[in-house]
Amino acid sequence: MKSAGETIREMLEFDRIHLWHPYTSPVDPLPVYPAVRAKGVRIVLADGRELIDGMSSWWCVIHGYSHPELIKAAREQIERMAHVMFGGLTHPPAVELGKLLLEIAPDGLTKIFYCDSGSVAVEVAMKMALQYWHALGKAGKKKFLTVRKGYHGDTFGAMSVCDPVNGMHRLFAGFLTQNLFAPEPSCTFDQEWQEDDISDLMKLLSEHVDEIAAVIMEPVVQGAGGMRFYHPLFVRRAYELSKQFGVLFIADEIATGFGRTGKMFACEYAGITPDIMCVGKALTGGMMSLAAVLTTDDVAEVIGGGDPGIFAHGPTFMGNPLACAVGAASIRLLMSYPWRERVKVIESVLRDGLEPCRGMPVVEDVRVLGAIGVVETKRPVDVALLQKLFVERGVWIRPFDRLIYVMPPYVIGKEDLVILCEALCEVVDMWGRTY
Ligand SMILES: *Cc1c(COP(=O)(O)O)cnc(C)c1O
Repeated sequence: MKSAGETIREMLEFDRIHLWHPYTSPVDPLPVYPAVRAKGVRIVLADGRELIDGMSSWWCVIHGYSHPELIKAAREQIERMAHVMFGGLTHPPAVELGKLLLEIAPDGLTKIFYCDSGSVAVEVAMKMALQYWHALGKAGKKKFLTVRKGYHGDTFGAMSVCDPVNGMHRLFAGFLTQNLFAPEPSCTFDQEWQEDDISDLMKLLSEHVDEIAAVIMEPVVQGAGGMRFYHPLFVRRAYELSKQFGVLFIADEIATGFGRTGKMFACEYAGITPDIMCVGKALTGGMMSLAAVLTTDDVAEVIGGGDPGIFAHGPTFMGNPLACAVGAASIRLLMSYPWRERVKVIESVLRDGLEPCRGMPVVEDVRVLGAIGVVETKRPVDVALLQKLFVERGVWIRPFDRLIYVMPPYVIGKEDLVILCEALCEVVDMWGRTY
């Protein structure tokens, strides 16, 4: 019999040699920690240690891990029908999730395309925009206009609208489509709006309007491209200009959707209904991968009325019943508790809890919006070291580049949140002084 320690060592060894992890070297990877269970806001490691989760597994696990309502929905659906093709068939989970999405989405979004992941949703959204103009006989409109510091996913269409530097466009130069980039919004969420913040985007739009299919952006919060919170009027102006110049407006709500920023969707801050909206991440409460693209009657009717009259996309697992059933349960769950209040409480605890970082010499900025707290440092952090220090303190926080940030599940209690903040401040302070 192997000892538990040997089993863990063996697992880590296999992982290190054979498994690739996100954004790390395939031959000299950063260390990983073996997780065996998770419940509520706690991730349990193989050696029994429990970590308070500060990441919601990258925006997804809004209700905490292993929520009984989501498990129940998954169990019931898996017994009935885990999967069936969406070509020529439909099923109750797809319809139920669709109804719930339309109930909570900005008014005017009426049509839903289900797909597998956020990146695929962005591909689908971009394809919708291209087919829209193709159908209207304006096939020259093939470019997308966006802002720098954005993140929209890792597939090629999505990458082509990610920040050119963060997104490592030089690696794929010659293959990646060239799109148009305005400077990132500079007015922050809390600052007074400056009308000239939008002027570069306006200039690009007016100069290239004949080539532009759509403006695409993450409303209000730029996530993986820099964790920046910018002014809702930037979104509003970008939307208004899109309408004025006759291009489509795509909102990528994959990170911001389902309450994370304090609104159900961040577009609500700007008071707009985008032509196309992508959702993913928290759609299933983090239980499994599912995404959706919502659009308007206009976009659907133009695509359907033009050549070739069909929309050219259809993933194998489109509308997967298991994922849709869990998605529906997750939205019902969200609507069943006062998530706005919880996000507000998290926001206020994060504001107080992260404040001590502001004075530290290594810290550039501290910012909080909704259930997202960010400490931006002046130099890139040592991810492996910080991760180790966090795990030693019983919290799970994964920094990247110059960003140490938390976005806990909405169900986190005040005490756990305080522990999370204290660990964060302590580790930033230690790292800032010593290394
Ligand atoms: C994570 C993310 C994506 C990509 O989603 P995946 O499910 O990782 O493919 C796209 N857009 C935004 C804003 C995201 O945060």
